[in-house]
Amino acid sequence: MSIASGPTGGPVLIVGSVAYDSVRTPFGEVTEVLGGAASYASVSASFFSPVRMVGVVGEDFTYEHVATLAHRDIDLAGLQRSSGKTFRWSGYYEYDLNQAHTIATELNVFQDFRPDLPANYRDTPYVFLANIEPGLQLSVLDQMRRPKLVVCDTMNFWIESAREKLLEVLARCDIALMNDAEAREITGEPNLITAARRVLDLGPGIAIIKKGEHGALMMSRESCFTAPSYPLEEIRDPTGAGDTFAGGLIGYLARCGETDDETLRRAVIAGSVMASFTVEDFSLDRLLRLSPEEVAERYHEIVAMTRFGAF
Ligand code: AMP
Repeated sequence: MSIASGPTGGPVLIVGSVAYDSVRTPFGEVTEVLGGAASYASVSASFFSPVRMVGVVGEDFTYEHVATLAHRDIDLAGLQRSSGKTFRWSGYYEYDLNQAHTIATELNVFQDFRPDLPANYRDTPYVFLANIEPGLQLSVLDQMRRPKLVVCDTMNFWIESAREKLLEVLARCDIALMNDAEAREITGEPNLITAARRVLDLGPGIAIIKKGEHGALMMSRESCFTAPSYPLEEIRDPTGAGDTFAGGLIGYLARCGETDDETLRRAVIAGSVMASFTVEDFSLDRLLRLSPEEVAERYHEIVAMTRFGAF
């Protein structure tokens, strides 16, 4: 299958934060720009499959940003607008771009958010529970009718503040995504391979551990795949890399309609390719000016870079 031929499969339901982010990196600073796990994941997935988005924004969320999302193949019937302010996150990165330092998290309209899925969303076959309060992730799952594949993500904020609910989410998902520090924190296990296996003990059939610029590790009970990340010389802002990876992964799987090991490996590479674009600029700027041809080209470059002969 060509990955440059536009979305045909899916659809994919994505629930998560839609945010205004303020971010400082050694390479620049932005204030109140479009962000949020669901925004990155949805735009990324929309390169491969139609997307249905579930989330909430406040009265301050601009129509320009609504139009930015709607302009992609993203159905916004599940994006509520509530009175109050949009979720805000602010953070900074030092030269080690793998480590985000949170300055403030303002839940705002997420505080009282009760997801209520439009009737036609409930049969969506592919579901991505992006980073959001685990109770909300569960409430979305409760409204779904037997999805084919559920992928979930989380972060340290929820591991520390909502661990029990998060364990319930993990028990109900097929693929658990987390970064290396989160895998260690959830399992209490310093070795990443052992931590990935412990994540499998919590329920999911597959654990994918993201290692930032060092790639990703996919572990199932039968196999292990270690994927490189695309070697970039210029990274401006790593915010959203994980969500973009996840969106690319599930969008690609939805488009293929398969979840065998071979397809999963390609999906991990598709996720890495999408993430490598996000980090080239702040907010969703690079993703929004990305073409499917550039995605395909970078995918093939990774394939060429990691090919090696038999021993
Ligand atoms: P990532 O860099 O992929 O881990 O995700 C960054 C995005 O996650 C930012 O755009 C933030 O708006 C969003 N985010 C940060 N903290 C939270 C949180 N506690 N809950 C939900 N989303 C968050």
